[in-house]
Amino acid sequence: MNILVLGSGGREHAIALKISQSPKTTKLFVAPGNAGIAAIATNIPVGVNDFDGIKELVLREGIDLVVVGPEDPLVNGVHDFFLNDALLKSIPVIGPQKAAAALEGSKEFAKEFMMRHNIPTAAYESFTSESLEKGYAFLESLKPPYVLKADGLAAGKGVLILKDLDEAKAELKSMLLDSKFGSASATVVIEEFLDGIELSCFVLTDGSNYKILPTAKDYKRIGEGDTGLNTGGMGAISPVPFANSAFMDMVESRIVKPTVEGLKKDDLPYVGFIFIGLIKVDGEPKVIEYNVRMGDPETEVVIPRLKSDLVEVLMAMANGTLDQIDLQIDERAATTVMAVSGGYPEEYEKGKEITGAENIEGSLVFHAGTKLQEGKVVTNGGRVIAITSFGKDFKEALKTSYQNMEKLHFDGMYYRKDLGFDLDV
Ligand code: ATP
Repeated sequence: MNILVLGSGGREHAIALKISQSPKTTKLFVAPGNAGIAAIATNIPVGVNDFDGIKELVLREGIDLVVVGPEDPLVNGVHDFFLNDALLKSIPVIGPQKAAAALEGSKEFAKEFMMRHNIPTAAYESFTSESLEKGYAFLESLKPPYVLKADGLAAGKGVLILKDLDEAKAELKSMLLDSKFGSASATVVIEEFLDGIELSCFVLTDGSNYKILPTAKDYKRIGEGDTGLNTGGMGAISPVPFANSAFMDMVESRIVKPTVEGLKKDDLPYVGFIFIGLIKVDGEPKVIEYNVRMGDPETEVVIPRLKSDLVEVLMAMANGTLDQIDLQIDERAATTVMAVSGGYPEEYEKGKEITGAENIEGSLVFHAGTKLQEGKVVTNGGRVIAITSFGKDFKEALKTSYQNMEKLHFDGMYYRKDLGFDLDV
């Protein structure tokens, strides 16, 4: 089969590597890809939202399966674009159609979905510029901290958690009246604050059947001890030690099953990955958010643990036969540590030469923001390279990731050295 993966990060590198290892894969293309992906697939310089460019590529290369990495093209309707095109409609796309992608594209839609299907989540109300005064009154009725969420996609920056009521009111006003996050904050969801520990659960579905992939926990803050600004993710661990089987039984019966059944009841066709952001509060799971694709960097620990042939799994999703798949998972723990550019997540420079990756042994090296320039691999983003390792537990796996991280070098390189600090095992 000829397969196309859309995206250019560590997530797409991890997915592409697993696809490249399948005997079912004839040719593998990634658009636009990165310097690391170029070693295992053919990169094509087409953007993930350039649907006409994607069409031309799919037809030219005789693509049999498209796997969508990031959320943007899904929320913009890439799957629908295929279904509505006579030449493309028979080519399976892994990723939901636009209507279901609203689970990530609109927080209000996601909250309404959860309410409709009795899925545990934080209490909430949503507001627009017309209901600003009601928003103030709702904030007054809550205890701090206050959680304000821009309804639409805001590149992971649209959630504010504030301790002070006046500050929360001022931010609400700025989101609704001054378009703080552009049109994404034309509607704002205000939620009850949940106090607990977070983890991510990944589900594969063909629209009726589902399989649960290993859990993962990512580390979002730039600074050690979970301090400083939020990033795309500084590393991840899988499995999550506190997500034991009793907890995961609750996750499956109260959240995963009602989510997949809810999609069906609401007539929201869904073939793809569901990323459920969970929080454990008083021992019980609640949903913080849905994403309609895999997480990054969680993919860099979850997908390497998959022992089953990923192409077979993806085809079963496309064909509605996921119930016939017996997912094989590596029992070992996996960790990934992300090396980032100095200054990230604020301003940083690109184009720094990356050296030492060839000396890394016993780990997988996934490129996030890199590109080839005059024969050299250089930095091309905030998050640059993720190093994934296995071990009998996450501590052993982390040790290998950190040992190998010392071999990698680029100007300004930074990584967190305290992953797993909050998991006492
Ligand atoms: P992401 O970048 O993870 O996709 P997002 O912008 O889609 O984030 P959420 O995941 O809904 O937004 O929220 C971001 C983070 O804010 C969460 O990972 C969590 O740490 C925190 N958060 C969100 N909602 C709540 C809540 N109700 N109570 C406590 N913390 C929350």
